[in-house]
Amino acid sequence: MAFDFTGNGFKPFEKKLWLSSPTMHGEEIEYVEEAYRTNWMSTVGQNINEVEKITCEKIGCKYAVALSAGTAALHLAMKLAGQELYGQSEANKGALEGRHVFASDMTFDATVNPICYEGGIPVFIDTEPDTWNMDPVALDKAFEIYPNVKLVVMAHLYGTPGKIDELKTVCNKHGAIIVEDAAESLGALYKGVQTGTFGKYNCISFNGNKIITGSAGGMLLTDSKEAADKVRKWSTQARENAPWYQHEEIGFNYRMSNVIAGVIRGQYLYLEEHIARKKAIYERYREGLKNLPVSMNPYDAKNSEPNFWLSCLIIDSDAMCEQVRSETKPLYIPEKGKSCHTEILDAIASINAEGRPIWKPMHMQPIYRMNPFITKTGSGRAMTNAYIEGTVVDVGMDIFNRGLCLPSDNKMTAEQQEVIIDVIKACFE
Ligand SMILES: *Cc1c(COP(=O)(O)O)cnc(C)c1O
Repeated sequence: MAFDFTGNGFKPFEKKLWLSSPTMHGEEIEYVEEAYRTNWMSTVGQNINEVEKITCEKIGCKYAVALSAGTAALHLAMKLAGQELYGQSEANKGALEGRHVFASDMTFDATVNPICYEGGIPVFIDTEPDTWNMDPVALDKAFEIYPNVKLVVMAHLYGTPGKIDELKTVCNKHGAIIVEDAAESLGALYKGVQTGTFGKYNCISFNGNKIITGSAGGMLLTDSKEAADKVRKWSTQARENAPWYQHEEIGFNYRMSNVIAGVIRGQYLYLEEHIARKKAIYERYREGLKNLPVSMNPYDAKNSEPNFWLSCLIIDSDAMCEQVRSETKPLYIPEKGKSCHTEILDAIASINAEGRPIWKPMHMQPIYRMNPFITKTGSGRAMTNAYIEGTVVDVGMDIFNRGLCLPSDNKMTAEQQEVIIDVIKACFE
């Protein structure tokens, strides 16, 4: 018997249990109030100065520029890298016009869309199974196929640092600039160093579901003063130093609000606490699910300390019930002793909790279906199947097929989590 949606006897939670929702503490509203009281209801003010300073201290970068979103930070990182590599483009053209850029494949689309904002063409690099991030072997293959590429955008999925040393070695060998998308991994460490410091230009996010939040917001991090100054200028409509509005470059309205910065300023006090809670959630799942044919999203315990933003599980291949997915709908056949992401997500939803499928790989997204995709064997594109004769040939799709994100909210109690674990167990009965 698989999960019985009528008779398992699980009582739905009274209040919905979210995947990962904002957790406020009190200081946030005081800083917001301060902005209100002092009338700095603007994209200028003390909260902005403070969160930039705090970020530099925590992360260990020289400059942090507060922006309206992580996506805005990634956009301006693409512009910086593009101008550096290919020179200043005509005003109405993107800085990456027609250029290929290597990008993580298993990530949120905000990692890669900014490549296109600047006219570039994302080339997706397959995922390795050890941390679910960009595969250095596949990246090396990609440089063989596209030797002229000079820019690599890499994300740290679900707060787990990727194989940074190996990826850096490959990028250095080919003289490529790294942009790190640390939107999901704020506070995570690789060999004792914070993510968001390994690329030339790096991005973090304070979106509502991230480890700490301002309700929105993001930052570009760099050690280059020149780059930080440019981003500050571009993000405030690229005004020249003149008594009137004078413009020599295309500008953007990307600066962070001082009100939002107030929320972030309050949240920073709790970053470590949030990470500790997320880690406890991860470990409770790992313990509670250990006798099932599943494992947790993996990380390199020797070299990295994730922020455990989202807990995920992946089902053993031989414990998967039959399933198919169209572009928008899943179907599966329940089977004794087996399960699949749809069954587990539906079961979790039936008790008023929120899980989510694994982020669908970019090379399988209709918008990016025609873009190149490079696997570790150097082949890739138009994969209709993640497996050939039982062998995984598309690691990202394999994880998408067998994995799912579990409710990982900071405010979830141990008792609530026990119920989730029991529900997952019932799916495999
Ligand atoms: C959330 C997220 C972003 C975008 O950040 P916003 O602040 O929402 O614009 C970028 N990349 C990844 C991997 C993310 O998870």
